[in-house]
Amino acid sequence: MQFLNSQLLINAAYLVAAVLFILSLRGLSSQETARRGNLYGVIGMVIAMAATIATNPHVAGKFHSFLMIAVFGGGVIGAVMAARVAMTGMPELVALLHSFVGLAAVLVGYSLDLLGDGAGGPPHLAHRIEIYIDVWIGAITTTGSVLAFGKLRGKLLGKKISGTPLLLPARHWLNLAMLIGSIACAYIYAKDGNQIGLHIGTAIAGVLGVHLVAAIGGADMPVVVSMLNSYSGWTASAAGFMLGNDLLIITGALVGSSGAILSYIMCRAMNRSIWNVIFGGFGAAPAKKPEGGAAQPAGEVQEIDAPGLAEQLKEAKSVVIVPGYGMAVGRAQHAVREMTEVLRNRGVNVRFAIHPVAGRLPGHMNVLLAEANVPYDIVLEMDEINGDLPETDVVMVIGANDIVNPAAEDDPTSPIAGMPVLQVWKSKLVIVNKRSRAAGYAGIDNPLFYKPVTKMLFGDAKDAVEKVVTALKA
Ligand code: NDP
Repeated sequence: MQFLNSQLLINAAYLVAAVLFILSLRGLSSQETARRGNLYGVIGMVIAMAATIATNPHVAGKFHSFLMIAVFGGGVIGAVMAARVAMTGMPELVALLHSFVGLAAVLVGYSLDLLGDGAGGPPHLAHRIEIYIDVWIGAITTTGSVLAFGKLRGKLLGKKISGTPLLLPARHWLNLAMLIGSIACAYIYAKDGNQIGLHIGTAIAGVLGVHLVAAIGGADMPVVVSMLNSYSGWTASAAGFMLGNDLLIITGALVGSSGAILSYIMCRAMNRSIWNVIFGGFGAAPAKKPEGGAAQPAGEVQEIDAPGLAEQLKEAKSVVIVPGYGMAVGRAQHAVREMTEVLRNRGVNVRFAIHPVAGRLPGHMNVLLAEANVPYDIVLEMDEINGDLPETDVVMVIGANDIVNPAAEDDPTSPIAGMPVLQVWKSKLVIVNKRSRAAGYAGIDNPLFYKPVTKMLFGDAKDAVEKVVTALKA
């Protein structure tokens, strides 16, 4: 073990791990390389943990056994959770995991505060500042993530939670007051290590986390999840400074900045300002809130059945499929791939249109389509395909709702006003497959259903698409 104590070896191990994390992020940016990227991340983390445990002078003797039990136990729980979670439950799981990162940072911060300077006094000034920042960001991340988990799941501790934003009248003043209070507490703690400052600062940060996330809702929730991802990264980075661990600083900065960049990209995709999302509609006129969480259907719809649709598809030269959350819930991706194959074999030009916030997590639809072996080159982003929709014979919307809602363009009072959507109503025929006329995640009615160009194919996505495939083959 002695040779491992060499600082050179630790640095080398940390450098390799950091490079693997960067390669991991790079790999995760595309579906073709995502598996490899994931593997790089796993190897990097194993190297980082092994080097830290083997070289840390505080981890010796029986502590090795404790750590092994914790690592093994945590690993098994994590593997079981990941194996059991449905794709639709991923954002909830991710939000929950972010809360663990925040909580770990708070606990580490408090333990370092209790350790003090090693001579019975409080930690040194620089250390106190690091501890305060780490605990403060960690507390925001913890409570914010727990609430985001509850909002995505629709309930928390057995109580129902609405996904709509809670916009208190003086919310920006409240945020400002909490920020000023936090700075005052930081001063009290940093000045001479008075723990009251740390305790009250932690409590304020906990309330701030709840308030920030409560003010965001509906179609903005994906940004919240990626913002919390970013916060958890900065928390880890602050913990790295506190513990003097270079790799934790690097890893935290990678997660923090990639989460911030993802949030920015998602905000742009949804035509929202990042500040508007973070502070729950700062400077914006409050949008009309959906009443009771879900709007009532307003209008008559035209229906179509599977054989009728198959006839239309046989006549079509170009077909665009718009998958949404319902395709994930119905696990219809394999049936959709089979339908795609049948149509392509008949010479139909079939493509997929992916909205940046379709489903319940970034890249949700891409992952499902890749899992079903749909060729990557026919899967297009919203911006790439919107211009082609007027020339498209049939657009099939499978379990999607908010992402094809024309109210985003036509109704300035809509909660999703300004969010770019797939303009499917411009095509020659739109088929919307879902089980009922119920609203989507944003809880608002969809005027698309009542347009003359639209026909509804009611039913579970998998069942409906399988019937279409049977009719196409007949
Ligand atoms: P929506 O939630 O708007 O709509 C999904 C539709 O699927 C529902 O209206 C539902 O209607 C239908 N559905 C449910 N189950 C089935 C089934 N088994 N078969 C067929 N249809 C089904 O989904 P979209 O993908 O259009 O939009 C995503 C929304 O989620 C956006 O508002 C986005 O902001 C939000 N969001 C996105 C996240 C992300 O990172 N991508 C994260 C969190 C939220 P019915 O009940 O009638 O069948």
